[in-house]
Amino acid sequence: MIHPVPPVGTVFLVGAGPGDPDLLTLRAARLIMQAGLIVHDGLVDPAILALARPTAQLVSVAKSRSRHTMPQDEINALLVREALAGKDVVRLKGGDPFVFGRGGEEAEACHAAGVPVQVVPGISAALGAAAAAQIPLTHRDHASIVSFVAGQCKGLSDQDWSGLAGKGRTLVIYMGLATAEAISEKLMADGLAPEVPVAVIERATRPDMRVLRSSLAGLSALVADKKVKSPALIVIGEVAGESELELRALALEVAK
Ligand code: SAH
Repeated sequence: MIHPVPPVGTVFLVGAGPGDPDLLTLRAARLIMQAGLIVHDGLVDPAILALARPTAQLVSVAKSRSRHTMPQDEINALLVREALAGKDVVRLKGGDPFVFGRGGEEAEACHAAGVPVQVVPGISAALGAAAAAQIPLTHRDHASIVSFVAGQCKGLSDQDWSGLAGKGRTLVIYMGLATAEAISEKLMADGLAPEVPVAVIERATRPDMRVLRSSLAGLSALVADKKVKSPALIVIGEVAGESELELRALALEVAK
């Protein structure tokens, strides 16, 4: 007896941006609004999930440092299983799926199982935070190189960040709160001046966003004193100082 084989569904790896639903791409918004099944991680804002149809099935595989999370292998298996059963799956991730989002691993697992994948880019936290805090990541007067690094990685001290921060450069650190002290010590040991400006942007683009500033030497004290919580980004370099833009905005406020 021949069993009919259901057509294989597609896995859409979709970037949900940094939080504000207005920063979704049109394609992401359309896919979310049409989806029957959405598999999302913890960073996706509830306001974005609220765009889904009431009948859509929402599965959380929340990723966060402290809370229980579904292991990556199980997430991969879930996506493959649902797609092989014939369902289209919207795999919704904070920011961009291919920037510290493990989108590569999920795409590989799907390809290996013969499941088609489409990738929809999102506004990565660094870009959303920079815009919201009015910190230009490059600026002809201050920086012509920008690097994104993950601060949470095991073996942080073995990673070679030399050349990524310093004069003319902007370093953006994702997942760096827990290791803030080790990060500032590492960068100073690499020769960075203790007074290099640092900005910490917490919950960028969300209504309760905070932008906090210090020097490189003061970074870990700032994180502790202000009780900074995840998600937050650390921006290190001249552009993180009180920007002209901000001063101008302030002057306008005062003039009103
Ligand atoms: N794929 C995501 C990054 C996932 S890693 C992207 O492209 O943005 C998770 C880290 O992203 C967090 O620990 C934090 O450092 C950063 N992040 C995500 N959303 C953020 C937000 N709204 N504000 C500040 N940092 C954020």
